[in-house]
Amino acid sequence: MLLTLTTTYSPATDLGYLLYKHPDRCQSFEMTFGQAHVFYVEANVNKCTVALLLDIDPVNLVRGKSKSRNQEGMMDQYVNDRPYVASSFLSVAIAQVFRTALSGQCKERPELAETAIPLIASLPVLPCRGGETFLRELFEPLGYQVSTQSLPLDEQFPDWGNSFYFKVKLEAVIRLSDLLSHLYVLIPVLDDDKHYWVGDEEVDKLLRHGEGWLSSHPARDKITNRYLKRQHRLTRLAFKQLTEEDNPDPDALEAANALEEEEIVEKPISLNQQRLETVITTLKERGVKRVVDLGCGPGKLLRLLLKENSFEHITGVDVSYRALEIAQERLHLERLPKSKQASIQLMQGSLTYRDERLYGYDAATLIEVIEHLDLNRLASLERVLFEFAQPRTVLVTTPNIEYNIRFENLPTGKLRHRDHRFEWTRAEFQDWSNKIAQRFGYDVKFQAIGFLDPEVGSPTQMGVFTR
Ligand code: SAH
Repeated sequence: MLLTLTTTYSPATDLGYLLYKHPDRCQSFEMTFGQAHVFYVEANVNKCTVALLLDIDPVNLVRGKSKSRNQEGMMDQYVNDRPYVASSFLSVAIAQVFRTALSGQCKERPELAETAIPLIASLPVLPCRGGETFLRELFEPLGYQVSTQSLPLDEQFPDWGNSFYFKVKLEAVIRLSDLLSHLYVLIPVLDDDKHYWVGDEEVDKLLRHGEGWLSSHPARDKITNRYLKRQHRLTRLAFKQLTEEDNPDPDALEAANALEEEEIVEKPISLNQQRLETVITTLKERGVKRVVDLGCGPGKLLRLLLKENSFEHITGVDVSYRALEIAQERLHLERLPKSKQASIQLMQGSLTYRDERLYGYDAATLIEVIEHLDLNRLASLERVLFEFAQPRTVLVTTPNIEYNIRFENLPTGKLRHRDHRFEWTRAEFQDWSNKIAQRFGYDVKFQAIGFLDPEVGSPTQMGVFTR
């Protein structure tokens, strides 16, 4: 994945000062998802081009050795376009590698950082969901001259037509920090990859990097909506702040946001917390030391596990690379002592394929995961976990569908989440669990989590499997 920035400002090599990267050097930076390299393709008084190259490792996200098995053509589960295209990883790299330039500061050439200079950003492969029209809609109002070249799906099969990837050149006379901010926000918007989860801090990032241009951008609402992955609560918060950007009253704003967040978030959070606390208590009661959280998502349970000293080895597994990326960010591992850092790892993997990396744990947790799998896939997971990995303890939580009628905001007959393939009654979950226990030699007990309604039971049900 490559981004190049070219200037013809004279002396062009001043780009090195603006970026804090010497034109004679090639530098590499460790990222959570791989490596970023910065080097100059050309550096003379008339023209200077710097390249930011990302070397993304899609499978082994975090520290730890490559142990992934490539069995029975399962690679397609792991192969994706992320290493090759400009995506939110590029934004992360820009924010880290060109941090000072992005903030618009430059000790050596302060006036130059404030000056609009001729700049060209080239992206050899930019995913544009929404096509060229949308690409232009995003960049042209900001003053860029946009050149594009559509890339074929497969060069060997021209009949298949074009992909949604474009080779893109953006030219403008602009401050470098503005250009970097535009790329930071708009590349993920164009990519529009299915992030699994976007947190509140994304609103801050959007507002910070969108300062001075986003509130007046004609496509502002679309940008905000896509950047925040159509999470309406977050979009509303962002809209509110964007609208008031010109006339801010921080106290009033904060109070309004706090209220709104509380109203919307409080209930689910308290159930979620109860769920996680119950899981932690159960693991501790059983003297678990090595635990693997399957379908860890953005790492809420991992964060709590890390706080406890009794867990010596913690692993989070998820099929979603983006979820792991968020987990990695939110765990702030860099702030932990080295010994703690060494106790946790994140792995990308699908739970429906036998995987030796899952062997050797005292316990496995599946927190609100099974309902995300199609039933025929769930059958594979059962074997992967209970027949092959065989941890002594398995904790499975899942919604109790009977309780749904108690959620005022949930229309009748609707499941709790768009991605849920099913939700079970208590009898259905117990039936599934008992069959598994019998088949694979486990004992299973059930526990209610959340308010226990005499009629419909509790909102969450947990199965505690023991071998
Ligand atoms: N356990 C987390 C996340 C639950 S959401 C929590 O309680 O917050 C379900 C998670 O399961 C998602 O992160 C999703 O990416 C993951 N998932 C779904 N199918 C999967 C599969 N086949 N293999 C691994 N993870 C899967």
